[in-house]
Amino acid sequence: MSKRLKIAIDGPAGAGKSTLARLLSERLGIPYVDTGALYRALALKAYRLGIREDEEEKLAELAKNSNIEFRRDERGLRVLLDGEDVSEEIRAPHITLLSSPVSQHPKVREALLKLQRELAKEGAVMEGRDIGTVILPDADVKIFLTASVKERARRRYFELKQKGYDVDLEQLEKEIEERDKRDATRNTAPLKMAEDAVLLNTDNLSIEKMVEEALRIVRERCGIK
Ligand code: C5P
Repeated sequence: MSKRLKIAIDGPAGAGKSTLARLLSERLGIPYVDTGALYRALALKAYRLGIREDEEEKLAELAKNSNIEFRRDERGLRVLLDGEDVSEEIRAPHITLLSSPVSQHPKVREALLKLQRELAKEGAVMEGRDIGTVILPDADVKIFLTASVKERARRRYFELKQKGYDVDLEQLEKEIEERDKRDATRNTAPLKMAEDAVLLNTDNLSIEKMVEEALRIVRERCGIK
């Protein structure tokens, strides 16, 4: 029954979108699509080729001529860039930083639009910034996930520490604020809540409670008992 459901999860960095989308996908048996990974993979390729973040035409061309795919294995969702597994590399802090300005360009977003709709065709829990507003305006359920900057920085801090990166909490807070601002004020597909989205603040929610709450929203919106 939930097979072809389209669920859009949007919100700022570190609100818990990936965790929620992954767990919802498992619980509902619908594929999980992480759209941030597309911008990250593109940023990685640009970085390797020496294309600058302000070279919109070149970045858009690169997006059109790259093959970005998702594959699932025992480690979870893997991201393939032109056949190469870049799942870890796209999470490196310098690529995280670069992915934001790369994603600002209208032509880049346009170049990745069709792929995203294609990925959701058979139903998906799709996570990003503009899924409910631009990519899947007809999604069955739209959830806008938020959390305070402090809480989001704290989560990123532990996540990166665990991966062995040397990070500074205050610096992370600053970066998150900057990214939020850039994502919210850009002209194309800014981060904003869709009118028909449900707002979910995860500041004081455990992961289980967050999933429970999201499942309740899905059931209510889709009329599932
Ligand atoms: O979600 P994640 O942090 O992996 O996203 C990486 C970058 O890609 C973000 O800085 C955001 O600006 C951008 N992005 C976007 N639209 C999406 C998903 C991500 O602009 N749908």
